[in-house]
Amino acid sequence: MQPSAHDPASDPSPAELLAARPHLALHAMDGLLLEGASLAAIAAEHGTPCWAYGAATLRARARALHAAFAAARLDVAVHYAVKANDHLAILRLLHEEGCGADVVSAGELLRARRAGVPAAGIVFSGVGKTDAELRLAVVEGIGQVNVESAEELDALSAIAAALGRTVRVALRVNPDVDAGTHAKIATGRAGDKFGIAHDEVAALYARAAALPGLRPVGLAVHIGSQIATTAPYRAAYARVAALVRAIRAAGHAVEVVDCGGGLGISYRDEPAGSPAALAGVLAATLGELGVRLMVEPGRWLVGPAGVLLSAVVRAKHTGGHRFVVLDAAMTELARPALYDAWHAILPVSAVDAASPATPADVVGPVCESGDILARQRSLPPLAPGALVAILDAGAYGAVMSSTYNARPLAAAVLVEDGHAHLILPRAPLESLWARDILPSRETAPRLRVLAGRG
Ligand SMILES: *Cc1c(COP(=O)(O)O)cnc(C)c1O
Repeated sequence: MQPSAHDPASDPSPAELLAARPHLALHAMDGLLLEGASLAAIAAEHGTPCWAYGAATLRARARALHAAFAAARLDVAVHYAVKANDHLAILRLLHEEGCGADVVSAGELLRARRAGVPAAGIVFSGVGKTDAELRLAVVEGIGQVNVESAEELDALSAIAAALGRTVRVALRVNPDVDAGTHAKIATGRAGDKFGIAHDEVAALYARAAALPGLRPVGLAVHIGSQIATTAPYRAAYARVAALVRAIRAAGHAVEVVDCGGGLGISYRDEPAGSPAALAGVLAATLGELGVRLMVEPGRWLVGPAGVLLSAVVRAKHTGGHRFVVLDAAMTELARPALYDAWHAILPVSAVDAASPATPADVVGPVCESGDILARQRSLPPLAPGALVAILDAGAYGAVMSSTYNARPLAAAVLVEDGHAHLILPRAPLESLWARDILPSRETAPRLRVLAGRG
């Protein structure tokens, strides 16, 4: 958890932030570059706010993850958690890098298919899959459904049996482990809504084996997000390993363990989750079971690869306070408002970057006191029109956007080989009301809605 207010003197310096992010560089003339592409040029071409993602960074992270598992002699299938960033361009890129998809809705399932992920490479997670979504999963023939309750198991069995299909099912275990992360992104504690209490799992597995239309293939667990230490993983996977043994002792086959996502990244100066350390924990806790391992990382793969580009609307001084008002807001990046998250903010212009900094609150224009992107940051003077980059915004950024205050969804570009490809144009203002319906004043029947008035 990040502090919501702090001493800016303790923040990492711009030089330290850049040193830790090799995909970003400050060019003396062109200012801040993402994988060699000028962020100022991207803003000039596509406007602000605008998301920019680095393709080489995404590829490098996917490769580093696979390499860490290979180094530990583990066969681990990576299913990218689509909810972290669901642009088709990014799904396709990660698929090219050998990642399947972990989806939590029909929309995500179809997005992954549209991006070219084969059905067999898709895992469906989530506590509230509707019957229509379960039917879609069965009809598409996806690789695995991670079932979160006895009730869902029955529903899925009925749907699959009626369609004459057999669906591969894993039971999601709630291991009752605290991931030690922000309360709003912890998912593996006994009181959380996710998964099946671990003392009920073995009996439910036996029931799944007896139900028509289902083939129980293993267990799944996901304990939360932005996890930086191995202890919660170790505890959760040890419990899952014990369950695998118990289920096998009862005579059932267990072929896979889906170990979930949650690897954290370093937003400020906190330690990032380490794929090598995760691989070590997997090997130690589950390596001897002879199961096929799966992981579902989201944030770790895409978070560092994206920035949110924004322009200063107003430099405001009042009541002894300095505010930098941006054209980006909580409607683009909700994480600071939602989780008190800390995101680094750098000026894009090299001239701005070289000017003396003073503390400022960085806010958006939305009519909410919570629309604060950063408190008390050391920033140089930033005149209206000056550009800033909000770093590490690749995960849980654009996907959480809203059009609150009638703000159209921002544009997005993918930088590849020094070229910024537009992957989502800014939504036109008209899109905000394009699907609204004004009831006709002429033809609507005049219903008497207030009864009993004679
Ligand atoms: C959100 C989620 C993930 C991905 O979490 P990250 O912290 O982004 O890695 C993986 N699996 C499930 C079931 C999830 O809900």
